[in-house]
This record gives sequence, structure tokens and C-alpha cells, in this order.
Amino acid sequence: MISNRFDQWRPITEPDAAIAAALEHAHIPALLAALVHLTGDPGLIRGAIRPSAAFFGDPQGGISPAQQAEVRAMALDVLRAYRDGGCARPPAPPPERVHELMSFMVADTLPEPYLEFLQSELALEGEDPYGQPALGAIPRARRADFRVLVIGAGMSGILAAIRLKEAGIPCLVVEKNPDVGGTWFENTYPGCRVDSPNHTYSYSFEPNDWPQHFSDQATLLDYFRRVADKYRIRDMVRFGTEVVAAAFDEGAGTWRVTVRPTDRATGGAEEVLVVNALISAVGQLNRPRLPDIPGRDTFRGAAFHSAQWNHATPLDGKRIAVIGTGASAFQFVPIIAGEAAAVTVFQRTPPWMSPTPDYFNPIPAGKHWLLNHVPYYAKWYRLWMFWRTAEGLLGAVRRDLTWNDQSRSVSARNDDMRRLLTAYMADLCGGDAALLEKCIPDYPVGGKRMLRDDGRYLRSLRRDNVALVTARIAAIEPEGVRTTDGKLHEADVLIYGTGFHADRFLWPMQITGRGGRDLQAHWNGDPRAYLGITIPGFPNLFCCYGPNTNIVVNGSIVFFSECEVRYILGCIALLLDGGHRALDCRPAVHDAFNQSVDAANAEMAWGAPNVQSWYKNERGRVTQNWPFTLLEFWQRTRVPDPADYEFS
Ligand code: NAP
Repeated sequence: MISNRFDQWRPITEPDAAIAAALEHAHIPALLAALVHLTGDPGLIRGAIRPSAAFFGDPQGGISPAQQAEVRAMALDVLRAYRDGGCARPPAPPPERVHELMSFMVADTLPEPYLEFLQSELALEGEDPYGQPALGAIPRARRADFRVLVIGAGMSGILAAIRLKEAGIPCLVVEKNPDVGGTWFENTYPGCRVDSPNHTYSYSFEPNDWPQHFSDQATLLDYFRRVADKYRIRDMVRFGTEVVAAAFDEGAGTWRVTVRPTDRATGGAEEVLVVNALISAVGQLNRPRLPDIPGRDTFRGAAFHSAQWNHATPLDGKRIAVIGTGASAFQFVPIIAGEAAAVTVFQRTPPWMSPTPDYFNPIPAGKHWLLNHVPYYAKWYRLWMFWRTAEGLLGAVRRDLTWNDQSRSVSARNDDMRRLLTAYMADLCGGDAALLEKCIPDYPVGGKRMLRDDGRYLRSLRRDNVALVTARIAAIEPEGVRTTDGKLHEADVLIYGTGFHADRFLWPMQITGRGGRDLQAHWNGDPRAYLGITIPGFPNLFCCYGPNTNIVVNGSIVFFSECEVRYILGCIALLLDGGHRALDCRPAVHDAFNQSVDAANAEMAWGAPNVQSWYKNERGRVTQNWPFTLLEFWQRTRVPDPADYEFS
């Protein structure tokens, strides 16, 4: 059922001129790798033309324009011969050649564990690296007798449903919204788009010919809808229904899940569903958080949260107050600034920006052509993107405790980044020193996720109709927002870009585990799980995107979901294989894991004492982030270790 379309490319029929035109858009390292496949000649990657790790931000890895032209000319000859020879599929290279190609692409000799990891991620011949083969060995009837309820039909929920269906395990998905898509269904604010490169922000088994490098919300929602349709997931979803509570029945080893219609006005009654396992795929950022500001309800005009955008409210010619300068406001402020009479942005903490010149650019036709026609090119291009966004920046945000000033930067390398990004922002501020001073964060780079930027946010702040206010908010009044300096900033519309209840995992559902243990009371504001997935005392409850699985500088959250779902299916295989009803994470395993996570988070920029963010709970513990490498998550979630669990 699951197949990787990008190992099937289209035949080349175009004339030389069209091929040459497309090659102008080639990513040279990926092209060279593809040429090795087509020619069988490894000499192509053993010469002087090779990417360099020193040119991290350069999409061509430092390969000079003259060298690029040389590769393009050679590629034209090779592709012409391939076309004229009938586009025969090149033979699969031997494993040692694939390893050499991978080292070439990452501009380094890969340590042994990475060879297996990246080779699996590469899936050159359309393999399915995130499948769970252990389930295939279990008799079909036993699989068919195990029922799973998945909460949420967003990115992770669709994935879980696809994998469970593939494994022949009955699954019901309960979704509070009327459609699939989760965060991409709910967030419709102007300018909403992904900040991970799309060729990595997509399922490994469902690569897409993305129209943009970083697609917008509508494109992403369309992708998830199409995937749900293709794998016939909609029939498995109860839309417009929310999970109110779930209680583990120790006698039966099952979960009793209480659901009800989201729209209470429909009058539908609560219902209890009994399942063997419960998978939470509710995401971390799905319950909008309004700030506790005095007088919030007194505002006379329209007011809404960015994740509940009120498209019926006209902004044209209005005075708009925006609270927050996080990822969401950063995206919608430049757009509303173009139509509003005035925009006042209330900033508590400025964001660091990650210069991304092609953030809004469509992918040019030539690049699409290469991805679709040149054998293996898309595979190597995806690997390049994956690697560049994988472990690359982790080293730059790790704290060097011998570094003097931990408040502004956490290491010499981190300080270099601060200087580079400050220079970038200074350039965009165009000599407006007051604006620059307001916008330079006083916390280290990597303390929070950097925001992808092509310059439009700071340009919008320089507009005559936009004001950036850094005075603290004292109150909201009927006419606008009053700051602590006594000034009233009048507004017709108030938009909260104030984020989500990220630290309240699974809230507001009432989850009751063994011995009547309430999950929120058990966590007491300090959510923890083993690998972010399982929680002692809550058998057969599995989380996707659970505690400590969020990422700041590396990877794509789709990668985490694929690892999590593979692990969860591995747990189900353990249950079915051993004839067990339930598995429960051993507290000692869970505690040791969390100690290592806490120690590692304390070593990262986001764990630095002066950094305040939604990554930390009230006690200052980082409850959200994964502090290790992607490799480590991949390795640890590959196959569950039965010794980590008690079985009943
Ligand atoms: P956010 O990052 O949590 O930002 C909330 C903003 O509101 C912050 O600037 C915060 O200031 C401010 N704020 C909160 N309470 C306030 C108060 N009482 N007074 C003044 N300011 C207040 O929320 P978000 O922008 O919605 O983004 C949430 C997360 O969603 C992001 O971190 C990201 O992971 C994800 N996201 C991703 C994308 C993307 O992929 N492109 C887009 C949007 C969102 P402080 O910083 O001082 O707390």
C-alpha cells in the first residue's frame, strides 16, 4: 500500500535546450550524485568539485559558479545520452558507493551510526523506512481483534491511521474539527506557512512536488487532505467529535473513552467507546492561549486569537493592535500592515530571525522538472535538505559553560551567530538605531526557535503606519491597550498572537490511569513521558508530539511523528506477540530517561537560566524540547525494548 513515488521518475522527452534550461536551476551536489547513478562513474564525486561544510548557508555548498557551469555541461551530455538510450533505469549502486555518495553530500566522512540512519532516510529504491515489520509476523486475526482510538486527524493522526490500517489493526480517529489537517486546518491567519523546508516537512512515503520551498497553509492543508483521501482515512474518522475523558479499566486492560459532539448545540449525547489502546495525536499547539491582562473582556472592538482568525472582521483602514511577536504575529503583521490604517505591535520579547531569502519563493519550473525527471535527483536533494536542517545547528546552540557571558551568547560559535544575525537585522533596519535596539534579542541565539525571514517583517515595522511598542501592557480598555507608561494605544481591532497552552499536554481531556490516577494531577504542571510517548501508570496510552519531543533548531516534526508511530506500532506488536493485554512503562526507565533529558536541556541555549519561553514550565524545567540529535531519537524509537515495560 505504501510506496515512495519519487523512485519513479518520468522519462525525458524534452529537447536539449529545455534540459539545459532546467539545469540552470540544478542543485549541484544532488545533480552530481544523480550523475554517478546514471554513469556509474564515482570519479565524478572524487575530484575537486564538492560541497564544503564551511559553506553551510550556501545552497550550493560553496561550489563556484565556474564549477557549477562545468557540472551542468557534463549533465547535459549525460541526460541527452540517457534520453536517447530510452531512459533505462540505472542499476542500483553497491552499498559502499551509496555511503561514499552520502559522505560527499554532507561534505564530511559520516560516523558509522549515521550511515544506516541516512541510508534509511534516503530510501533510494523506494523502501519504507518507517514501517513496522514486526506486526506482519502476527496472525491477521489477532491484529484484527485489537482496537485503537486515535485522538486527532492532524499530521500525526493521519499518519497513525495510515500505519494502523496498513497493519490490519482496526482504528477509529476522533477529530474535533469538521475536516482533517489539525494545525493547518485551524490556523488560517494571513501569511501562515511552514518554517521547515517542505521536502522534509512531508511524510517519507508521500513526497510531494511542492510548489514552494516553504509552502503556505492552503498548500499544506491540501497535501494532508489528499493524503487522507489517497489512503482512505476519512472513513475511519469521526469528525466534529471530541474526546472528553478516557479511563483505563484495569480489569479488562482497555480504555473507556468518552466522546461527544464538538458542537454542543447539535444536542448529541456523550458516548463511551472501548478500545485496547489510545493514541494521542493532538499536537502541542492546539489550544489558543489568551493572556491574563486586566480588562481583556472590556475591549469594544473585534478581538480574536491568531489561531481563530475572524475573517469576517474587515481590517481595511482599521487601527489594529497586535499582542505578541512570536512565529504567528511575525507572519501576519507584514500582511495586515498593508491594509490597515495603523498597526501597533506590542512586543515583550523580540525574536531572532533566520535569513531565508527564498522563504516566499515558488520553486521554479526547471527545478520541478529536475525533481521529476532526473533519476535519483529528488532523493539526494531531499537528503541534502534533511541533513542541512538535521544536526547542523545543534553545536551552535550548545552551552560552553566556560564561556563568560551566558546571558547573550552561550559559546564562541553562538556568539558568532549573534554577530552575524545582528548585522543582518541592522542592515534591514536601514540606520534606524532605535528600531534595531528594540529588535535585538537579549537572549542567546537558539534560546527560542528562530523565525524564517526574507526581510519583510522588519521592513513592515519601518512603515509609517506601524509602531512597535516595547512598554509593558498594563490593561486592555474599551478603546484600546494601555501600557505601563500610562499611554493609551487606541485600536478598532485587537489580535492576540499570544501562542498556545503548550505545556498542558492533552488538556482539557480528563485522562485517568491505573488506580484512578488523573494525568494532569499526576503531572502537576510538569509533564514527562518516556521518549515523549509512554507514561508510567497509563498503560497502552501513547503520545505523538508528547513532552520533550519539540525541536528548536534541528529536524522536521514530521520526522518525529514517523519515528513515534513506528515505535507505537512496535509496542502493539509486543502486546500481540506476547498475548499481553497491556504494557506500562517502568518508572525507573522513565525517570532515568527524564533525568538525561533534563541534564541535556540544561546544556542548550533554550535551557539557559535567563531564557524565558513556553518551552519551560513555571519551575523553569524545559518540558517541551528534545535536546539530543535526530539520530538518537531515530535509534531509540526504532524498536521498543520489552525490558522497558511491565506487561499484564
Ligand atoms: P508564541 O511563539 O508562543 O508567541 C507568543 C507571543 O505572544 C510572544 O511574543 C509572547 O511574548 C507574546 N505574549 C504572550 N503573552 C503576552 C502578554 N501577556 N503580554 C505581551 N506579550 C505576550 O506563539 P505563536 O506565535 O502562535 O507560535 C507558537 C508556536 O507555533 C511557534 O513557536 C512555532 O513552534 C509554531 N508556529 C510555527 C509556524 C511556522 O511553522 N511557520 C508559524 C506559527 C507558529 P514572550 O516571548 O515574551 O512570551
